[in-house]
Amino acid sequence: MPDLDRARSGEHQTAPRAVVVVGASHAAVQFAESLRSNGFGGTVQLIGEELHQPYNRPSLSKAYLKGEVTVESLALRGSNWYTDHSIDLTLGERVVRIEHGKNGSGRVHTSKVHSGENEVSSYVYDRLILATGASPRKLNIAGTDADGVVELRSVDDAHSLRDRVASGPVVVIGGGFIGLEAAATIRSLGGTVTVLEAGPRLMGRAVGEATAAFILAAHRTMGVDVRLSTAPEAILTDDHGAVRGVRVAGNDIAASTVLIGVGVEPNIALAESLGLSCAAGIVVDHRGVTSEGTVLAIGDCTVQPHPGADLDLERSVRLESVDNAVEQAASAARVVAGEPDSVRAVPWFWSDQGDWKLQIAGLTGTHDAVVVRSDPDRPRRLVVGYFTSGRLSAAECVNAPADFLALRGALNNGTLVTPEEFADTSAPLKQLLKPQASRASATA
Ligand SMILES: Cc1cc2nc3c(=O)[nH]c(=O)nc-3n(C[C@H](O)[C@H](O)[C@H](O)COP(=O)(O)OP(=O)(O)OC[C@H]3O[C@@H](n4cnc5c(N)ncnc54)[C@H](O)[C@@H]3O)c2cc1C
Repeated sequence: MPDLDRARSGEHQTAPRAVVVVGASHAAVQFAESLRSNGFGGTVQLIGEELHQPYNRPSLSKAYLKGEVTVESLALRGSNWYTDHSIDLTLGERVVRIEHGKNGSGRVHTSKVHSGENEVSSYVYDRLILATGASPRKLNIAGTDADGVVELRSVDDAHSLRDRVASGPVVVIGGGFIGLEAAATIRSLGGTVTVLEAGPRLMGRAVGEATAAFILAAHRTMGVDVRLSTAPEAILTDDHGAVRGVRVAGNDIAASTVLIGVGVEPNIALAESLGLSCAAGIVVDHRGVTSEGTVLAIGDCTVQPHPGADLDLERSVRLESVDNAVEQAASAARVVAGEPDSVRAVPWFWSDQGDWKLQIAGLTGTHDAVVVRSDPDRPRRLVVGYFTSGRLSAAECVNAPADFLALRGALNNGTLVTPEEFADTSAPLKQLLKPQASRASATA
């Protein structure tokens, strides 16, 4: 029987006593918590290369960048939580090598991040979990190593961006979630911001045209100078190697800070060293089991079957969201604890850009109809439904949290709504998306 099938059949699900998780962020912490709540009594070792206690990244481009919250308040769990749950947390060590045996056990070797690359420690395991996340994608133009060029993934990145905002105009390269969230925050601090997006619309990989156009207008209202179909040619520096601008189509835009936000690359080097199947991410099954069958992988580093829907099971996706990290971690913990599988809810995502709240549920891509539900009396709200063969398959909402909750519930319950009903703003969505029986009694 291939390893993956053995793992599915449960052969590997018994009696691991020592679990090592590489990475110590959203996915890793949730995994540890779920493992304990599933009754796992063995040792759980999280190893993270960052020095801070595991923290909440979404705040980095929002409240933390604004200076509204402290680094301590970003912690995912209080420091007592780790000791209270007997979870060993090692920070500031990078896993640099793994010796992996055929029966699923092995040893990881680490180096201290801030004292060179020599191996300093090793940790034995009989179950290995990779929760290595992703790193900002590099941009291949001149000047990216200049003083004043920043990225935004870690608390240290956010700190340096925050320190620079008052020093002059910022150019954000990339009109995706991170760049747009940061741009809106910088505007709210009174900064001057230009966003350069190489594609014809914002958030091209993540939202449809109506939502992208709506968010574009929102940014322009906030005073962000957004330029679409505009790729930077070079980052310009002064005589001291500091940023002074960005060259675009032969023109120079003045800047003292350049934020590069052109997406992330999954951290797959360790997985590749183990011979795990990787394809723009570590390939896992619906519960986080890798091609090798004993090692699991969770969070931003993975590519998985389209979750939570029976519409497009053949499609593989890499999801970069807290919801995904949490859900995959919970599934992987059930595998390790020998608990049965459970059904996964539709994936969802949020992005706060200034006072514009974007929320997305389900995945687009297979839809054959898009229905926009907008209300001229409420111009700051937008609701977009995606339909596949007449069934609601995904939704995007801006500043409509109650509608979003109703839509997410409907996607999870398979509640039927026709595109015509969806478009009709005379009926509240909450009413429309009630389970069928209660709808019938409400309209009787
Ligand atoms: C600025 C920002 C804003 C965001 N906003 C939102 C949002 O609004 N909504 C949302 O849903 N999501 C948001 N996200 C995405 C969300 O934070 C990620 O999806 C989530 O952090 C993924 O968790 P993870 O544990 O898989 O990976 P990560 O959080 O990337 O953690 C992986 C950890 O592993 C460590 N690591 C990697 N390799 C090694 C190694 N060899 N040894 C030791 N440690 C290692 C890394 O240093 C890192 O700390 C945002 C992300 C950022 C950066």
